[in-house]
Amino acid sequence: MRFSRAFIPTLRETPAEAQALSHQLMLRAGLIRQLAAGVYSFLPLGWRVMQKVMRIIREEMDAIGGQEFHFPALNPIDIWQQTGRVEAMGDVLFHIKNREGLVLAPTHEEVVAFHARQHVKSYKDLPQIWYQIQPKFRNEPRPRFGVLRGRQFTMKDSYSLDATWEGLDESYEKHARAYRRIFRRCGLRVFVVGASSGAMGGSASQEFMVESPAGEDTCVVCSQCGYAANVEVARSAVEPTARLPESHPLERFPTPGVRSIDDLVARGIPEERCAKALVYIADGQPLMVLLRGNDELNEAKLQAVLQAVWLRPATPEELQRFTGASAGSIGPIGLPTPMPVIADERLRDANELVSGANVDGYHFRHIDLQRDCRIEHYADIRTVQAGEPCPQCTAPLRIVRAIEVGHIFKLGTKYSEALGAFFLDEHGQERPIIMGSYGIGVERIIAAFIEQNHDEHGICWIPAIAPFHVHLLALGVEREEPVRRVAEQLYQELWDSGVETLYDDRPESAGVKFKDADLIGLPLQLIVSPRSLHSGGVELKERRSGKRHHVPVEEARAAVRQLLHQLSEEPQWATLP
Ligand code: ATP
Ligand code: MG
Repeated sequence: MRFSRAFIPTLRETPAEAQALSHQLMLRAGLIRQLAAGVYSFLPLGWRVMQKVMRIIREEMDAIGGQEFHFPALNPIDIWQQTGRVEAMGDVLFHIKNREGLVLAPTHEEVVAFHARQHVKSYKDLPQIWYQIQPKFRNEPRPRFGVLRGRQFTMKDSYSLDATWEGLDESYEKHARAYRRIFRRCGLRVFVVGASSGAMGGSASQEFMVESPAGEDTCVVCSQCGYAANVEVARSAVEPTARLPESHPLERFPTPGVRSIDDLVARGIPEERCAKALVYIADGQPLMVLLRGNDELNEAKLQAVLQAVWLRPATPEELQRFTGASAGSIGPIGLPTPMPVIADERLRDANELVSGANVDGYHFRHIDLQRDCRIEHYADIRTVQAGEPCPQCTAPLRIVRAIEVGHIFKLGTKYSEALGAFFLDEHGQERPIIMGSYGIGVERIIAAFIEQNHDEHGICWIPAIAPFHVHLLALGVEREEPVRRVAEQLYQELWDSGVETLYDDRPESAGVKFKDADLIGLPLQLIVSPRSLHSGGVELKERRSGKRHHVPVEEARAAVRQLLHQLSEEPQWATLP
């Protein structure tokens, strides 16, 4: 493509609305433009990247026996009502105002179950893997960071249909392998979080994550053994609170001015002997949470333990009402309003603890949780902190922000039962089809790649997903006939041998051309200038490493092909375990 005739609006300035780096670079390099909040147009360079990513996905889905469909975005609302997801999706589901009974599909489990019901009759029709690459519509409350969270985005979604739970496990594993290959080929370093082995199908799910400051998920990862988990479920091998040999008699003592664990520590009480109490309201009922020292409560874990729908901290007024004290002086002993106490695992059966006395300015010491309290149950409800030992190998854990690029999920029979997608098994018995669902965000792959592959000058593509392979820069082309002649000849030769070439034939200064080339970031730059010709040839620059090679004109094509080949093989694209 000739730059002078292409629509590649690069930007010098950083657009004000672009908070994520990948978003900035996608705008500046002319890959996308915003049309409305959370809605983006892909310009020619960006669309070429999209198509390459989709081709990789297609090849890997076909390789596990997937069959490509194209389901409509317009869906009849009744299939969504039958699965209860009109309510579950709430405001995220787009409804259509001037046509009752249609919604815009945010995903396609319902449609798949609908067609399976019509056409899958017998176990002999199974297993199946159906997939599509198609726009999805979600009225995200906070579309952010450009295409990372859009209101319209492109998803590869696939669905497995199986007759047995073992079959589901197999389909799920096939997807897990295909996903690793897809992300590796797209140059992403991913890690996987979530439970992998919900034996007998269950509801196992795994998310494929890319470490990035623009990510909206917080994950705990071990660089040593590969342990990784969302912070909402992550564990660590922190030491438990030792039970001391002797429990002294419980004693109340004055602690004027003490409002926090740090205040207690300042009075000489070891942090590990402090029990921090919090009051929460779960589905309308108060409960007390006990944590060790300055450990932080993880609300997601607590909510999962309680299986509560609504969970929130008590207000200061509620604290006074339920405990008679304010936040710094509450504890599990002498509560005027009895309430269940949930304690963190780390405090299991501990003694010689200090906690609030439910009277402002007083605490208890020598608390023995076995002797003095009724603990409803112990559970892991604390938040893992950076540097704590890995639960698998004890190496220090890191806490990172991450982008979810893919999600695989064992659905079971929820959708097939709701929509009546049954089949007859070997014994002629009617059973619901066992389903799995698997998603990849195509735009997110691109944004996540850019998050991981850029420098201060712009994007650093790999050949597999670069919009073009080579950026041919002809310097002084408007006045130098030899430059024009050699550049035109190379442009033709390169395309003839299958090398996708973007030819900067604009009458711009060398500075402008170099800046744009680095910003767009094609893997190779091929520079033809009066100077290079004078010294006998052309110059090749590897965008990522900055390495330069001088080659005679007649060897340029072979050198380009060889370098592209090398760049495609670089080992840094290995996917982490
Ligand atoms: P998130 O938690 O980020 O909202 P999700 O759990 O809603 O994601 P899924 O429903 O599992 O996502 O969708 C499958 C994939 O689609 C995700 O892994 C992600 O890559 C992509 N995706 C989801 N929502 C968006 C969005 N609003 N914009 C761009 N891609 C998205
Ligand atoms: Mg979502």
